[in-house]
Amino acid sequence: ADAGAQRDRVVPTAEWLQKWAAGKTGFHNERGHPLLQKNLDVLLNGRSGLRIFFPLCGKAVEMKWLADMGHHVVGAEVSEQALKEFFAEQGLPYREEPVPGIAGAKVLQSLSGNISLYCCSIYDLSSAVVGKFDGVWDRGALVAVNPRDRQRYASLMISLMEKNSSYLLVTVLYDPNKHKGPPFYVPESEIRSLFG
Ligand code: SAH
Repeated sequence: ADAGAQRDRVVPTAEWLQKWAAGKTGFHNERGHPLLQKNLDVLLNGRSGLRIFFPLCGKAVEMKWLADMGHHVVGAEVSEQALKEFFAEQGLPYREEPVPGIAGAKVLQSLSGNISLYCCSIYDLSSAVVGKFDGVWDRGALVAVNPRDRQRYASLMISLMEKNSSYLLVTVLYDPNKHKGPPFYVPESEIRSLFG
């Protein structure tokens, strides 16, 4: 497969916001992802009270799962609608606060305090704002970022990881000449060079 076919594809933020506004969110899985359930032990490794990061989180129901297990969940998402739908559909009350240091950003936080969802571009975040994480659930995230931004994205993710953190990554395999993406095809060799 030739991943070059998608190299110059750019999905502007406005297009993602439109997808949410139009309800074109076929990527959302109401039941949660079976691969997270299957690989939960790899993510948690017997540890409790972890800080888990959901980049490009959408309204992923897995955020509720992990919070219910006693972990602290942080997400990042450009669509405020997605985040509001998350709290509404999960029946969780939340409050909104501005984010010091990121103009225009806000954080929507469950009143219980264990789910904090940043409404901003992932590239606006840094460990100075969100801290570091023991685990990352990357589904619909690396495969959704514009191909030309992958290096920047991977460097950011590495900078947000604690020493002993686990990173679960879901990708998709298909012929990139047949679909324009997203999700984009990210070859295994590229994953190795991005994350080392
Ligand atoms: N991970 C979620 C959503 C996948 S779709 C899931 O598994 O269901 C990708 C999401 O990334 C969309 O909700 C889109 O609005 C969001 N997004 C796209 N670019 C982003 C960026 N630069 N920063 C934060 N979120 C972004």
